[in-house]
Amino acid sequence: MPSPSANDHAPPSPDNGTARKVAGYHAHVYFNAQTLEQARKLCTEAAARFPLKMGRVHEKPVGPHPDWSCQLAFRKGLFEEVITWLAMHRNGLVVFVHPVTGNDLIDHRDYAIWMGAVRPLDLSVLSGRDEPVSYEF
Ligand code: ZN
Repeated sequence: MPSPSANDHAPPSPDNGTARKVAGYHAHVYFNAQTLEQARKLCTEAAARFPLKMGRVHEKPVGPHPDWSCQLAFRKGLFEEVITWLAMHRNGLVVFVHPVTGNDLIDHRDYAIWMGAVRPLDLSVLSGRDEPVSYEF
């Protein structure tokens, strides 16, 4: 068991150490016209294998995402399994992962986890307000 003082050594976080509750995660699979079918297959397989929600396969940039994308939403208890599976099956596709805490700006800007490459998000479309998270995973 770490002693309570272990937290004294934590690096400062961008939101001033405010503990944010993680409701779940999004994994956004990025692709283009050449990798569309590969991405569709990856997302469909993930949805068949895990109890997650597969969003639409967007053949255009949507929201803050600079590339075509498909969203996989899952509860936090699935993080290890889903992320490990994606790491071993993405086969070159870029995957952007972020926790869902109810603040879109913080979730995308400060908590981003990238597989394969870091792509430039359009953060100007995101709200920095705290919203209640009502995800059902
Ligand atoms: Zn997202």
